[in-house]
Amino acid sequence: MTTTRPDPDLGLPDTDLPDTGPAAVRERDETDPLAGFRSRFAPVPEGLVFLNGASLGRLPAATADATDALVRGEWGARLAEARTQWLDLPQRVGDELARTVLGARPGEVVASDCTSVNLYKLGAAALRDRPGAVVLDDDNFPTDQYVLTGLAEEYGREARVVRTDPDRGPQPEEVRQAVAGGAALVSLSLVSHRSGALADLRGIQEAAHAAGALVLWDLSHAVGAVPLELTADGVDLAVGSTYKHLCGGPGAPALLYVREDLQARLTQPVQGWYGHREQLAMRHAFHPDPGIRRFLTGSPPVLSLAALLPALRLLGEAGTDRIRAKSTALTGLFQRLAAELLEPHGFRLAGPPDPARRGGHLTYTHPRARKLVPLFAERAGVLVDYAAHDRVRVSPAPLSTRFADVHEAVHRMHRVLKEEGA
Ligand SMILES: *Cc1c(COP(=O)(O)O)cnc(C)c1O
Repeated sequence: MTTTRPDPDLGLPDTDLPDTGPAAVRERDETDPLAGFRSRFAPVPEGLVFLNGASLGRLPAATADATDALVRGEWGARLAEARTQWLDLPQRVGDELARTVLGARPGEVVASDCTSVNLYKLGAAALRDRPGAVVLDDDNFPTDQYVLTGLAEEYGREARVVRTDPDRGPQPEEVRQAVAGGAALVSLSLVSHRSGALADLRGIQEAAHAAGALVLWDLSHAVGAVPLELTADGVDLAVGSTYKHLCGGPGAPALLYVREDLQARLTQPVQGWYGHREQLAMRHAFHPDPGIRRFLTGSPPVLSLAALLPALRLLGEAGTDRIRAKSTALTGLFQRLAAELLEPHGFRLAGPPDPARRGGHLTYTHPRARKLVPLFAERAGVLVDYAAHDRVRVSPAPLSTRFADVHEAVHRMHRVLKEEGA
């Protein structure tokens, strides 16, 4: 399936769990096909409810073993002998990303560097390929705005900033107007970090392509939360975080995707030995690899790349469709309970009310969000995050969160709000 069409089977909150009482919630956990995945994560301290999967995904138990084996067994015991086996690790992890969560082909993805750097490389590649403006929006994560306006300056292009309503996300019609007269690059986030709004991927691409622009998606809040079909959807370019819904851990390298047929014509500005077509020949002149490797630069973060593999294995086993179905049911349950218990205390749902139009998180505005988020943690053991100074962001990770956890969390948050007289 694609990211743009709501799937009637995905469980909207009004049909999915008509009863939000404890017995119905318990039954939902008992029949949850993903329930078994919970024990495959390192446990959180007793009593904590973790609803922060969009900030830093939890630690899969297998990750600790895999990194330990690599550090002690490979680096520690085999020394420099071990190093050549890691030369192609960015591509091997990239192929796993392609297969398990991106719906892309082998050879279209690498994992390395951070999202900001990958955005810079691919944005520059688009501007080196074609003339015209850079189109971005003002709802994107700040680093994206910094990188894209910096690129426009560096390459002497106009930066056209779409004024996006954060609760709706960028709209195809707004992009159509922004690209009028031609553009080189449109770069947006598929899922809004502030509201969870899921953009119309195909609609926006159509508008951008009609004006001759390439589209560079930031998938940071989408990948691992929303099933993606980059090949079927004809996506040009994409980058994204792997430490949020993908549970790659702190400092996990970011993904970089370039559609196969674009690779040979696009070049990126940070030429390094990992991008050379004969990496180990130590030539003076730079000749880029014909494929995805040309977008790499230098030695990749091997420990962090290795830490990503067990997490991808878990996600691959669970399957993005099942993850999505549980995610919409969990956020749907939160939404229904919040309407009853949190909205009377100043919580207001931001972003689309239909879970099929959101990514894996939902946000609420509250004038005292900044004060409440730490109180929920300290007094109630409920871990949520901010999405802006006046927004609370809730992201229940489908593989490690029970419906009972969501039920418990909303009731505890309600108690805090009552104590606070909010
Ligand atoms: C989390 C996130 C990033 C992170 O960028 P890094 O360079 O990896 O720190 C970038 N863009 C978006 C939209 C994000 O949500």
